[in-house]
Amino acid sequence: CGIVGYTGFQDAYDIVINGLRRLEYRGYDSAGIVLEDGNNKLEVEKTKGKVEDLVNISSQLKGKAKIGMGHTRWATHGVPSDRNSHPHLSNNGKLAIIHNGIIENYDTIKTMLTEKGFTFKSETDTEVLVNLIQYFMDLNTETDFPTAVRYALNEVYGAYAITVMHEDYPGVLVVGRLGSPLAIGIGDKEYFIASDASPFVEFTKEAIYLEEGHMATISLENGVDIRTITENSKIVPEIQKLKL
Ligand code: GLU
Repeated sequence: CGIVGYTGFQDAYDIVINGLRRLEYRGYDSAGIVLEDGNNKLEVEKTKGKVEDLVNISSQLKGKAKIGMGHTRWATHGVPSDRNSHPHLSNNGKLAIIHNGIIENYDTIKTMLTEKGFTFKSETDTEVLVNLIQYFMDLNTETDFPTAVRYALNEVYGAYAITVMHEDYPGVLVVGRLGSPLAIGIGDKEYFIASDASPFVEFTKEAIYLEEGHMATISLENGVDIRTITENSKIVPEIQKLKL
């Protein structure tokens, strides 16, 4: 399973798809991609099968976006199927998530959200998390996107590496990690996300390996802002020089 994300000035489609190809060795049963096009609209394609199957149904997205993310899934909750593949969108269609790992308490949260009127298209634990983020943004319109991600992550336990996009936050990726790996590649006016550095090493040699229990808001305007998930304490990251 694997995660790739990109925000910058290059074609996000190519970077995400080539990145997913480099992560294929990790094993997976499905693949998917979401891009935010020039009109700030999220466009999703996903399928059971291989990265090349994804390419066959998604090549119309090539050249359309400078921000996007992709996922290879190793199913834990819900069978391998197109519907259970990531990315998952929130009910209002504004948030997209990709996730590797397991949300242990997804069932309790799903019951709570269902009582509030949320509906679900998949059997995954992941779709519960993206709707919990929407829930926190709906609850208080002052709650911005990264804060809502932080609130949601404080409600879940389990293991995760996640990347989240919001339609109204162009150029922004929010990532978090607990128990699953996540690396951030720092380029010149561009940023990369991946499960390991192999998808972005051809573009930059500078990387931050996100630490356990940390999250990061990555934006073209403000760079990389790393916080602890529990306390929201600001972290000064250690930038590694890749030798690959
Ligand atoms: N638990 C999630 C699912 O079953 C993510 C699996 C993964 O790590 O790819 O969809």
